[in-house]
Amino acid sequence: MLTMDEAYRRLMARARLTGAEEVPLSAAAGRVLADPRVIAPLDVPSFANSAMDGFALRASDTPGGLRVVGEVAAGTEDLPVVEAGEAVRITTGAPLPPGVDTVVPLEDAQESDGVVTIALTTAGAFVRLPGSDTPAGTVVCLPHALHPAAIAVLASFGLAEVRVRRRPRVAILSTGDELVAPGGELRPGQIYDSNAAALAAAILEAGGEPVQLERVTDTRSAVEAALRTGAECDLIVSSGGVSVGQHDHVRAALEGAGSLDFWRIAVQPGKPLAVGEYAGVTVIGLPGNPVSALVTFELFVRPLIRATLGLQGDGRLRVRARPEEPIAKDGARRAFLRVSVWREAGETLARSTGGQGSAQLRPLAEANALLVVPEGEGTADPNRSYEAILLGDLA
Ligand code: AMP
Ligand code: MG
Repeated sequence: MLTMDEAYRRLMARARLTGAEEVPLSAAAGRVLADPRVIAPLDVPSFANSAMDGFALRASDTPGGLRVVGEVAAGTEDLPVVEAGEAVRITTGAPLPPGVDTVVPLEDAQESDGVVTIALTTAGAFVRLPGSDTPAGTVVCLPHALHPAAIAVLASFGLAEVRVRRRPRVAILSTGDELVAPGGELRPGQIYDSNAAALAAAILEAGGEPVQLERVTDTRSAVEAALRTGAECDLIVSSGGVSVGQHDHVRAALEGAGSLDFWRIAVQPGKPLAVGEYAGVTVIGLPGNPVSALVTFELFVRPLIRATLGLQGDGRLRVRARPEEPIAKDGARRAFLRVSVWREAGETLARSTGGQGSAQLRPLAEANALLVVPEGEGTADPNRSYEAILLGDLA
C-alpha cells in the first residue's frame, strides 16, 4: 500500500500542460488564461470623466454662482467650451469638457434661473483621470480560472477573444454488470450508475471536459475495448473493477495491455485506486463505491486536471476545525471524513453528516468539507482541531 503523499507525487508527475486556444470572451468563464500576464492595451478609463451626476467647473471659480451653459451626457462626442465663471451639467461617465477640472455633485449644488451656486471645492474632485484605474501598458496578472471580475477587466480592455488553455478531455468509464443508467428500469440486483454522472460533474468543476464512454460489463475484453476508445482523450477515469474480486478487470487490463504504476493507497475512503497507462494515456481506476470514487477524484484527479491547465493544487480553501464529537476511522489510513463545518463563538466546528461508509452517498452530498484525520489515529478527537478541506460554503 502506497502512502497518500507518495501516490500523489507519482500521479502528479504525469501531468502534461494542454495547448492553447482562442475562445470568445462570452465563453471564457472558468477558463484558464494561457498566459496569465495581460498587458493593458489602453488607459482605463481612456479619457477624463465625471464620477458623479453634477456640475463640471473650474475649482478656482468656487465658491459662488456660476452660469450654466449646457449639459454633457455620457457618450457625448462634441463637448462645449466652458469659460471662467461658467459650469455645465454633467452625468456620471460623461467626458470632462475642455477648461474644467472639477465636478460638484448635484446634491452639493443649488441651481435656479440658469445659475448654480456652489461651496468651495477642491480641484480634481469627482474626476476620474485617464488611466486612474489601469494605465496603458500595465501588466495585469489574472492567474486563476477566469472569474467575473477578471472577465470584466478583459472586456474593459476591448478584448473580444482570449487565449486560454484547452480543457483536457477526460474519458469516464463505468464498469459493472449491475449498473443501469438513470432513467432505465432496475431489475433485481441492479443499481443506478451514479458514478458516471457524478464524475462528469466533478470533471467539469475541475476545469476538464467530460467524455462519457459506453458503460461496460465485467469482462476483460469489454474493459479493454473501452480503454482503446478512451485513449483518444487526455485522461481516462474509470470507476469500479480495481479490487481483488474475480470480476475486477480494470487493473488486469492495465497490467496486461498497458502498464500499472500502483493500485493501493492508504486512504479512507478509497484504498483500491489504480494508476497506470493505456496507449500512452494516463488511466486512473477509481474505486466503485460512490463515496470512494468522488473522494479519490477530489484528492487525485482534480489536482491532476488542474495541473494540465497550469493551476496549482486542488484550489480548495482549508480551515482548521474541531470535531464536536469523536468520529471513528481506520487507524492505518489517512481519513477524509464527511463533515459539516460551521463557525460558532469564534471557533470552527465539524460534525459528521452521517454514516462514514464508502457507499453512503447522502452524507457526502450533505457535507461541506472533508475532515483530514492522519494515519495513526483511530478517531477524530474533539480535543483538537484538524485540517478541513472546504467543498462548498460554510454552513
Ligand atoms: P467494485 O469496485 O466494482 O467492486 O464496486 C464496489 C461497489 O461500488 C459495488 O457495490 C458496486 O455496485 C458499486 N459501484 C460500482 N460502480 C458504480 C457506479 N458506477 N455507480 C454506483 N455504484 C457503483
Ligand atoms: Mg464492479
